[in-house]
Amino acid sequence: MRNVIIVGSGCAGNTAAVYAARANLKPLVVTGYEPGGQLSLTTLVENFPGFPEGINGPELVENIKKQAESFGAEYMNGTVIEADLSKRPFRLNVDGEWQETRTLIIASGASARWLGLPNEQKLIGHGVSSCATCDGFFYRGKKIMVIGGGDSAMEEASFLTRFGSEVTVVHRRDEFRASKIMLERARANPKIKWLTNTVVDDVLDVEKGVVTGVRLKNTKNGHTWEQEVDGFFVAIGHIPNTKVFEGQIELDPDGYIVSKGGARTSVTGVFHAGDVQDRVYRQAITAAGMGCMAAMEAERFLEAEDHQRNLPVPPVA
Ligand code: NAP
Repeated sequence: MRNVIIVGSGCAGNTAAVYAARANLKPLVVTGYEPGGQLSLTTLVENFPGFPEGINGPELVENIKKQAESFGAEYMNGTVIEADLSKRPFRLNVDGEWQETRTLIIASGASARWLGLPNEQKLIGHGVSSCATCDGFFYRGKKIMVIGGGDSAMEEASFLTRFGSEVTVVHRRDEFRASKIMLERARANPKIKWLTNTVVDDVLDVEKGVVTGVRLKNTKNGHTWEQEVDGFFVAIGHIPNTKVFEGQIELDPDGYIVSKGGARTSVTGVFHAGDVQDRVYRQAITAAGMGCMAAMEAERFLEAEDHQRNLPVPPVA
């Protein structure tokens, strides 16, 4: 049985592993199906403190992993497909192999939400993307489309104007969820065009194996048309990776873990770290900070439990 299992190997999970391993808890990290998390999908990270020249996302997350391993953390490639948090030790089914643990740190992150179009998944990596930072570079001088009306869409559209000849934001309503400042910044950018009250019917062209255009529909008058585009960026939010814990710990209506203060969840001995709980900051540094908090709380929890176990049984009166 493990002292600590950490689910997820992004910035949060790996940092929790550094702290837990250094506290001699010999944590096991279950990497998940996106090892390295969101950082492994980015290029230069310029705002992680300590790197004045910036550092590449994959290198940063790999460095944290190496640091955790140097203190004795173990890594297991795999995904948790089933969990039993109803009693301790907690039990996790990792690709068919059951693991038992005294404490659990959930750092499974959040994955990009897709539109669910018939051709969307078939063209991922061939013009369809959910990460402007990763793929924007490939669309130098090309026509780019960004879907969404939140801060992510504004941020991605503004960023993509560095590369594209034009960037069109497509949003299903005419009101924006994005914060005023980010919306205004995008609106002030002459390279950004706007299509509101518009939805995407599908992305083309699977037969050519690359994005060549989209079929759009105006939700007010039903008009449909095709538009040429080379890069199709979906920025409609993220889905927290908590499906496997549904019904076992408290989640909010969108599936994010509800924090009970610090890194605590509704289940004693289960802690959260990173984007799986944080829908506001979602930064590498805040995920790392939460990873540290979760590991420290797990350590204190185990220490208190061991201390209690060793106490002499009080004499019967
Ligand atoms: P979000 O705020 O939830 O916005 C998602 C957008 O996608 C909404 O405009 C939504 O439309 C649209 N959408 C969702 N499902 C759709 C669908 N099936 N078809 C078409 N459109 C769809 O998500 P986010 O922009 O990723 O932001 C998440 C959080 O991170 C927010 O708190 C945000 O402030 C924060 N964030 C901050 C920064 C920053 O400060 N630098 C950058 C990025 C994100 P409706 O509006 O019609 O629902």
